[in-house]
Amino acid sequence: MNVADTEVVFALLAPHGYVRTEDMSEADVIMANTCSVRDNAEQRIHGRIEQFNLQKRARPEVLVGILGCMAERMKEELLESGKVDIVAGPDSYRSLPVLLQNAAPGQPQINVQLSRDETYAEIVPVRLDKNGVSAFISIMRGCNNVCSYCVVPYTRGAERSRDWHSIVREACKCFEDGYKEVTLLGQNVDSYKYEDCNFAGLLKMVAEACPGLRVRFSTSNPQDISDEVLQVMASHDNICHHIHLPVQSGSDRMLEKMRRRYTRAWYLDRVAAIRCYMPDCAISTDVIAGFCSETEEDHKDTLSLFEEVGFDAAFMFYYSERPGTLAARKYPDDVPQDVKTRRLEEIIAVQNRLSLESNRRDIGKRFTVLVEGPSKRNPAELCGRAGNNKMCVWPDTEHRAGDFVEVEVLDCTQATLLCKLA
Ligand code: SAH
Ligand code: SF4
Repeated sequence: MNVADTEVVFALLAPHGYVRTEDMSEADVIMANTCSVRDNAEQRIHGRIEQFNLQKRARPEVLVGILGCMAERMKEELLESGKVDIVAGPDSYRSLPVLLQNAAPGQPQINVQLSRDETYAEIVPVRLDKNGVSAFISIMRGCNNVCSYCVVPYTRGAERSRDWHSIVREACKCFEDGYKEVTLLGQNVDSYKYEDCNFAGLLKMVAEACPGLRVRFSTSNPQDISDEVLQVMASHDNICHHIHLPVQSGSDRMLEKMRRRYTRAWYLDRVAAIRCYMPDCAISTDVIAGFCSETEEDHKDTLSLFEEVGFDAAFMFYYSERPGTLAARKYPDDVPQDVKTRRLEEIIAVQNRLSLESNRRDIGKRFTVLVEGPSKRNPAELCGRAGNNKMCVWPDTEHRAGDFVEVEVLDCTQATLLCKLA
C-alpha cells in the first residue's frame, strides 16, 4: 500500500519540477513513506531519519520528510526532534508541493488532516516497478473496523471507496502501458462500495475490461468475503486463484478480544467455500502470536487451525502494542516477550512445514507463470509467480520480464517451485 501511495506522491510532485533520484547524496528532498503497524517498523524509520540527517549535515538545505502512518500517529512529536522538516499524513499528499515550498531548515511544515473522501482517484501514479510488469491499484483507503490491536483506523482514517470508473480506467491504462498484472489494494476489499458497485462487481469489471491482464487483490477480511466474489474469481481465467485471508488467531476467545467479527468455525467455513469454488486456490494468512492474555491453550488453537487449513503461506508476527488502540487502553500487554517469541517460532515452524507440503503437492503440475526477470541465484534461470502466488524458477534464456510462460514443476524447496519449460 505504501508503494502505491508513494507512486501517487511522485505523480503529485512531478508537475512542480521534482524528479526521482535513487542517489541520496543528490537529493534536495528525502522522504520516507512509513508504516506504524508494529513498533519495529517505526524503529527502522527512526534509524532512517538519522541516516537522512547525515545528508543534512553535509548539505544543510536538504529537506527531510516523513509521510504516511507514522506522520499521522506521531504528528508534532516528529518535528520536536529537529530532524524532520515535513510531516504529511496519508490524506494530505496534495498539499506536499506547498509544504515543500514553505519548508526551510528550522521552518518545518505539517499536514496531518484526515479526509472522509480523499481517494486520489484521478491521479495517474508514477510507477516504481522497474520491470513494468506488475502494478498496484488502490481501490479504497482507510478502515472502518476497529480490531483492538490495530493502529490503521487511527492513522489512515475512515474507509472510503474510490470511483470504479477511475479504477477500470487505471487498469486499462496499465495494460496499454505494457503491464501484465494488477493488484487491487484495500484494507478490506470486500467492503468496497461505490454507488451500487460492490467488490464482486468491481473485480468482474476489471477482469472483463482487460482480459489480457492478470488480476490480484488484497486484503480479504474473513468476516466479509462473499460467495459472489468467489464465483467471479472462479469464472474469470485472468483472476488469480490466491486469497490472502488474515486469521490473526485460531482461538475464539482471542478473536473476540481482538474484535475480529468472526469465529474459528466461520473462518473454516469460508476456507471450505473457497475450496468448493476453486479447489486449486491458494490461501495465505496473517497471524499474531502472544496477544493480550493469550494462554498456551489459545496458542495451541492457532497451531491446530494452521494444521487444519494447511495454509500455503503466512505472514507471522508477535503482538506489538500500539499506542491509542483499544487493546493498549483496555488490556495489559501481559504475555512476556520470551513467550511471544517462542510461540511465534512454533507457528513459523508449523508454517514452514505446511509451505513445503503445499509446494510438494504442486510437483508434476503445470502453471502459467508471469516472468519477473532473472532469478537471484542464477542468471541462466528466470523467476516469476504462478497464479497461486508461488515463486517459480526454471532454466530459460529465451523469455523475458512480462512474458507469460508455461512451466512444469519438477521439484521444490519450502519457498520456491523448481520447474522446467513445459
Ligand atoms: N487490513 C488487514 C490487515 C492490515 S495490517 C486485515 O484486516 O487483515 C497487516 C497485518 O499486521 C495484520 O493482518 C496483522 O496480522 C498485523 N498486525 C496489525 N496490528 C498488529 C500489532 N499491533 N501487532 C502485531 N501485528 C499486527
Ligand atoms: Fe486493522 Fe482490522 Fe482494519 Fe485490518 S480490518 S486494517 S486489522 S482495523
